[in-house]
Amino acid sequence: MVSPTSEQETNPEVSSGKTDQKDFVYDSKVEGNIIFTRVDSAINWMRKNSLWPMPMGLACCAIELMATASARFDISRFGAEVMRFSPRQADVMIVSGTVTYKMALAVKRVWDQMPEPKWCIAMGACASSGGMYRSYATLQGIDRLIPVDVYISGCPPRPEALIEGLLRLQREIDKEESTKGLKAEPKEEVVKGLAI
Ligand code: SF4
Repeated sequence: MVSPTSEQETNPEVSSGKTDQKDFVYDSKVEGNIIFTRVDSAINWMRKNSLWPMPMGLACCAIELMATASARFDISRFGAEVMRFSPRQADVMIVSGTVTYKMALAVKRVWDQMPEPKWCIAMGACASSGGMYRSYATLQGIDRLIPVDVYISGCPPRPEALIEGLLRLQREIDKEESTKGLKAEPKEEVVKGLAI
């Protein structure tokens, strides 16, 4: 036989088998403090709003990249103000400028040192397609070496264009499966060709 607890002895409702219904009533105040979402959505939300750029400034477009970080345009409004010069702390490479063959493999090396998930923005005509430099010395687009997520047109693109590109990248990240951030590696022959 179970002896009554001290609460049952003092509270006739408890001792008679009734419980305090107020303990189990749905509390509508909780609603505002709980969010239901998918893990993918939560992870992507965190990722897209805290992009840390690796500024790969190679030519004149880099001046516009720097201007984007200045007070007038203030890239921190989009959570991407933490420019990192260590690839291991960066997750979005912004290639801004002419990519010469001499520099191309250095860009690739820095890209390889960035941890997954990572993204790339090709800022300006030169980074996207070689621009006006259709010459033996210039890589005709950084996408020949690394996978590009967003291309920004212009010579140079204004800071607003970079911000638009960043917002576009954020929309793309939002659609990703958070655990599948793997990029296609560039073709081996392209890398070998550049190494010659
Ligand atoms: S796209 Fe124009 S501004 Fe940008 S690096 Fe090339 S030449 Fe310079």
